[in-house]
Amino acid sequence: MLRIEANCYVNSMDKNHKPCAHAKSGETVVFVTKDCFGGQIQSEDQIMDGLDWSNINPATGPLYVEGALPGDVLKVEILDIEVADKGVMIDGGGEGVMGRFIHEAKTKILPIRDGKVIFNDKLQFPIHPMIGVIGTAPAGDGIPTGTPGAHGSNMDCTKIVKGAKLYLPVNVEGALLAVGDLHALMGDGEVGVCGVETDGVVTIKISVLKNCNLPTPFIVDDKNAIALYSAETADEACEGAAIQMFKFLMSELDMTDHDAEMLLSVIGNVCICQIVDPEKTARMEIPISVLDAYGYKFA
Ligand code: CA
Ligand code: ZN
Repeated sequence: MLRIEANCYVNSMDKNHKPCAHAKSGETVVFVTKDCFGGQIQSEDQIMDGLDWSNINPATGPLYVEGALPGDVLKVEILDIEVADKGVMIDGGGEGVMGRFIHEAKTKILPIRDGKVIFNDKLQFPIHPMIGVIGTAPAGDGIPTGTPGAHGSNMDCTKIVKGAKLYLPVNVEGALLAVGDLHALMGDGEVGVCGVETDGVVTIKISVLKNCNLPTPFIVDDKNAIALYSAETADEACEGAAIQMFKFLMSELDMTDHDAEMLLSVIGNVCICQIVDPEKTARMEIPISVLDAYGYKFA
């Protein structure tokens, strides 16, 4: 199986990056990833002020997918996400929603044992491993891996988990997929600016879809179809996600504008992915059963 080690990484999604590896459509690929600090934090004495910010959010890759051309969609089936036996959290530096109230930087290393994150001596939680950064190269200038957008990347979405299918746009030849920033656990919003940041190993199957009209980025899991959208404000991100799904229902299910709007208002859920990155990300979820009722099948 093709395996890309963590020492082949990028800090931006950029069409000019040289690929680490090439894969064919339908191939399974393993990405070994470093945490969002590039492994710089190994003890609680290391606080964010001392970090090399040029090596933040490393994403392993990029992977060149043969046959992927602009206008195609890259289907990414997440087969497995393994996380390490510890995670890192930091705060301070004015980052995050509560940054203005935190006057000192702090680092916390959280042990991960028996499938649980040990938060403190009172609290431990089952892990819910997810991928923070996963995206393709944009057509224009490169975009730092800290910034999400129409090309995916740092969406920090709690639905990008084992078993989910993620659909990303192909903007440049080869797609140039990169993956990083795993979280053992994160709450919707990521309000403190990080999840339980961890190294790990991601196994995915990639396929190139031609003539695919799904909006991207888009997720399908066993319960929901989910449109993702990133924008400067959370309001715009929420509205953008709803509008993406609205357009999808009209174009692919042939719903009228009234039906699509009313349906989303009745059964659709707008949720926040994160409100702390340079662009904010939201998602619109609808149950798969709606699509089944219209005979719609995902590629
Ligand atoms: Ca992130
Ligand atoms: Zn992260």
